Amino acid sequence: MDRIADIWGPRTPHPRGTVWPARVDQYLADGITESDVDRWVLSACLLCSNGCGCDIAVKDGRMVGVRGRATDVVNHGRLGPKGLYGSTAWAHSPDRLTRPLVRENGELVETDWDTAMARVTEVSRRLLDEKGPLSHGFYTSGQLFLEEYYTLAVIGKAGIGTPHMDGNTRLCTATAAASFKESFGADGQPGSYTDIEHCDAIFLYGHNMAETQTVLWSRILDRTRAADPPVIVCVDPRRTPVAAEAERTGGVHLAPRVGTNLALMNGLTRELFANGWVDEEWVARHTLGVDDLRAVVEPYTPDEVARICGVDADDLRRAARIFGTSGAVLSTVLQGFYQSHQATASAVAVHNLHLLRGLIGRPGSGILQMNGQPTAQNNRETGADGDLPGFRNWDNETHIRELAGLWNVDPLTIPHWAPPTHAMQIMSYAEEGSIGFLWISATNPAVSMPESARIRRILSGDRCFVVVQDLFLTETARLADVVLPAAGWGEKTGTFTNVNRTVHLSEQAVEPPGEARSDLDIFLAYARAMDFRDAAGEPLIRWRTAEEAFEAWREASRGRPVDYTGLSYAKLRGPTGIPWPVNEDAPEGTDRLYTDAVFPTATDYCETYGHDLLTGASVTEQEHRALRPDGRAFLKGAAWTPPHEETSDEYPLLYTTGRTVYQFHTRTKTSRSRSLNDAAPESWVELSPADAAGLGIAEGDLVRVESPRGSIEVKARVGQVMPGAVFAPFHYGSAGDDPPGQANELTMTVWDPVSKQPYFKTAACRVTKLRDGDGPAPAPTTAGSAPADAGVPPTEGGAATTSRSVPTPAYPNDPGVS
Ligand code: SF4
Repeated sequence: MDRIADIWGPRTPHPRGTVWPARVDQYLADGITESDVDRWVLSACLLCSNGCGCDIAVKDGRMVGVRGRATDVVNHGRLGPKGLYGSTAWAHSPDRLTRPLVRENGELVETDWDTAMARVTEVSRRLLDEKGPLSHGFYTSGQLFLEEYYTLAVIGKAGIGTPHMDGNTRLCTATAAASFKESFGADGQPGSYTDIEHCDAIFLYGHNMAETQTVLWSRILDRTRAADPPVIVCVDPRRTPVAAEAERTGGVHLAPRVGTNLALMNGLTRELFANGWVDEEWVARHTLGVDDLRAVVEPYTPDEVARICGVDADDLRRAARIFGTSGAVLSTVLQGFYQSHQATASAVAVHNLHLLRGLIGRPGSGILQMNGQPTAQNNRETGADGDLPGFRNWDNETHIRELAGLWNVDPLTIPHWAPPTHAMQIMSYAEEGSIGFLWISATNPAVSMPESARIRRILSGDRCFVVVQDLFLTETARLADVVLPAAGWGEKTGTFTNVNRTVHLSEQAVEPPGEARSDLDIFLAYARAMDFRDAAGEPLIRWRTAEEAFEAWREASRGRPVDYTGLSYAKLRGPTGIPWPVNEDAPEGTDRLYTDAVFPTATDYCETYGHDLLTGASVTEQEHRALRPDGRAFLKGAAWTPPHEETSDEYPLLYTTGRTVYQFHTRTKTSRSRSLNDAAPESWVELSPADAAGLGIAEGDLVRVESPRGSIEVKARVGQVMPGAVFAPFHYGSAGDDPPGQANELTMTVWDPVSKQPYFKTAACRVTKLRDGDGPAPAPTTAGSAPADAGVPPTEGGAATTSRSVPTPAYPNDPGVS
């Protein structure tokens, strides 16, 4: 099969309530056959948040392919195009970083580890002496392993004592975490992928799953193409494959105007009240705030929603009826809501719909606030993103004392006098110079953060010493003072947790190239060099290996919602990943949370006391305690407000960015896979046929897109986006290119008041044609970026993209997949 052309692979439809049939997808590099493979090594795919279980093929000390694990609960053997073609291709790329680099006379030059680490620790010690812990910031990733995040969290919070820690999870999954905390008291995905097998309807809010989690979409297609399919409702301003499936299943495609998600959600919520689709008894027993919510949504009649959002009032009514009358509803949410205006309020509104109907904790009635990145969940769990480890509350003295006891440090060392500093604020402090030491690991903010020109200025300026550790000399690494070469997936051992809480062990398959080291080893080397000590004078970090770090983390998670105490590396070497909590009560893991309708909202246990969703103002401990939530979930609402930047005569179109099927994040890995890169080699923008015609633009023409912050020059795809909107894929960096083509040149430094997620999806722009094109835009034809013009040649992979579905291999201790 050419899985570039056939993104989701062949269908295996099956009846409701039955197990998703296994299908083992495999890809081996050109010229390699199964008999050539020396060994298969346990892992899971690290190219999106789905976390598909897989084995890595090794030959002669090199990674040469991957095979899905039939026994894994996540993917039942399947892999998507990125997993198949992108998992190993980068590893042997000739431009891998193999030695540390330091900046000398303005140039990055190779050096040895001792010199590079000495440069890092000299600046770190000096700033700690002169300015204290607030001079330090750490900006990490959604792609490290749990053990690495936890080690970094302990270094930052107990070694240095800085609140300035965050990850690029702020640009993706922070809103998922924030919305869970607001509704249920703590982070934690309530639902399960098995809900797909049991539901009557699936609502996808701002979630183009068909491209962002292709294997999960296969799982949905295998239900929608069966005899008793669920109906799909899609909320998206583009006509994506999800939107097409909504139409095919008799559901609804709602395409709200960019920046109006919350008005739409308020309209759906009002319909539940207006039509008596609320389970009053369940709501009275298990929730707080229903009267306030009813009052907030009352003005959002279908006609008013139609006016604000530009959707048909009857379509809104139909979608609400599907939600209000289906026996079991699964909801999934992603960047279309998170990276948009009023992000947390919109994500919380999804919870409200479920709570009003009591559709939670039951088969088929899941909520999946999705993640973009594969290990974002672990960053949130361990506290490398600024939260405290184990979903503890920074504002709860008892939680601080627990951590201080665990690490044997003075509680005052652990920063907890104010909320943790979020990524955009860390960049502002670096801009002002109060943060003089910024360590960036496994992420590429020069491409992924909003307002790129500003980020480049901050990272290349002389106010902040920048350390970058990565696999390649990324656009960000090129601006650093010290660059540390890191080992990647398959070159190190560790665990990570996918979006539905399933923990996988990924074992080291091969040695890293040259002098590259695992991120864990790099953090441990820094801790040793800085000589961080606990209150007894013993080394603060007592672990040396990934497995020891995992055991330390297990203790940190004890008794918390994210309880790993029943997990071990030995257990994770079984046939499947295991969803947390795993403990004495649930030794085999937990498929679905809140089956007893008891939520972690007790004042002494919760992760946050909550916020006002409109302003972000914090609820105090006293206010929270007075509400006596005691296990009841919060129903919270907010009025819609217009987005920060609206269209004008100067900038008449709405600009929105997003993810596409063949690339992952800023393409650090996927651009080095020939198959993936050839399918979408350069950036583009998408216009509706109506707007393109009005501007005299045809498929493939070179256009300039401008916002008040910058401009890009790329080819135009006349495609599926709604009239009035312009879509740009966010993956493509262009440092040094003139003119620039990266989408974030145009986005702005504004964020959601609760989750602090920047707005990537609401800005104003104008588009001008520069010249006629010499062929179609470099955009794929296979999914949401499909052209309006049927004459554009289809995206195909060619000979190098042949993958196979193979017979299910025999695994030791195989209990089968359920
Ligand atoms: S769906 Fe995600 S995790 Fe699964 S193979 Fe594709 S990229 Fe990898």
